[in-house]
Amino acid sequence: MGSVDALRCRECKQEYEPSLKYICDECLGPLDVTYDYGSIKVSRDTFANREKSYWRYLELLPIADKANIVSLEAGFTPLHKADRLGEVLGLKHLYLKNDSVNPTFSFKDRPAGVAVSKAREMGLKAVGCASTGNLASATAAHAAKADLPCYIFAPKDIEYAKIAQALAYGAEFIAVDGTYDDANRIAAQISDAKPIGIVNVNLRPYYVEGSKTLAYEVVEQLNWKVPDHLIVPVASGAMLNAICRGLEELAELNLVDGIDNARVTAAQAKGCSPIVEAFKKKRDEIVPVEYPNTIAKSLAIGDPGDGIYALRRLRQFNGYAEDPDDDEIRDAILLLARYEGIFTEPAGGVAVASLKRLVEDGRIDKDEHVVCYITGNGLKSIDAIEGLLKKPRIVKPNYMDVAKMISIAGM
Ligand SMILES: *Cc1c(COP(=O)(O)O)cnc(C)c1O
Ligand SMILES: [Zn+2]
Repeated sequence: MGSVDALRCRECKQEYEPSLKYICDECLGPLDVTYDYGSIKVSRDTFANREKSYWRYLELLPIADKANIVSLEAGFTPLHKADRLGEVLGLKHLYLKNDSVNPTFSFKDRPAGVAVSKAREMGLKAVGCASTGNLASATAAHAAKADLPCYIFAPKDIEYAKIAQALAYGAEFIAVDGTYDDANRIAAQISDAKPIGIVNVNLRPYYVEGSKTLAYEVVEQLNWKVPDHLIVPVASGAMLNAICRGLEELAELNLVDGIDNARVTAAQAKGCSPIVEAFKKKRDEIVPVEYPNTIAKSLAIGDPGDGIYALRRLRQFNGYAEDPDDDEIRDAILLLARYEGIFTEPAGGVAVASLKRLVEDGRIDKDEHVVCYITGNGLKSIDAIEGLLKKPRIVKPNYMDVAKMISIAGM
């Protein structure tokens, strides 16, 4: 099982006993889980016959007792070889990590599942989250499975499908009349005052561990080859940072030959791109966006908690940063749907649209092995593309009328 050593400050390296603590007393830096890598005995073969969920990597996840795992069998999602989209973009080896087919239809089942399992391990009596939409249903579903009450704090104007989904799992949905940053601040105040595990606040050190599996799976599915370029949609920056750490761990454990040639690129929407802005302007600080305005609601975090760390990762991994506008995002959603049969929400459109920009600018070579993360499902945000779709034709149930409408090429 995960041999968690301690919680360690990302800035000053001060160590603490594992607990609900998430901020360093000395410098207010974020805390991360550390492992005793020397004691982790794994090889490529270790994983070969494991269950087809992200729990296959349990040595690298922060749960001490397997009995505490709350699993909806998320993860080990398809790594889809995108030949048709690759051809239209001009790439020979394009892969899509299709996390839109997780149990609650986004990658958030990875961090939420780990955090709710940790809440159970710590004996907490309630959980919750601050959410831009997808974390709400991921946390609510795992809380339902764990039989724990769940409190969601989210901006009131997120897609109704995401609200309905969380409510269906039985969560208490607190719709905040404000931005994500307002909802997040309230959630943090509640977590300080009440004995509740807020998965992305006081359980954050454990929460982020779940997203490392997005790196492990891709590498394992490529037969333990590290791709040349990973395109990651970014909100708080937690997932991008976790993917990079996952790559480092694979190298640390000698499961891959090296990660020096892997590039990691961040994708945000123009209406809320504080990390991309900082990267393009070569700044070291993030200037928060006060009022995000984009169809990519799941990425609309104006003041990203892991923003500076994501920025450092982009520099460490020689990446780029792009911020397509809403029209490019919509076009990319339909491009992906029509060339690959994968229907994503705007976050996935942001990743594909950014990839398209990189290829068009010649920043990606046609021979590179590229992995683009598709992190959420299109059914959750149909409003985003409704205006681009043809209206279905309404007909009388009469064979002759309908037959006249069908003309099939070559027949
Ligand atoms: C939350 C989310 C992201 C970004 O995650 P961060 O870890 O906050 O950067 C990307 N895609 C989708 C669909 C999401 O819901
Ligand atoms: Zn510190």
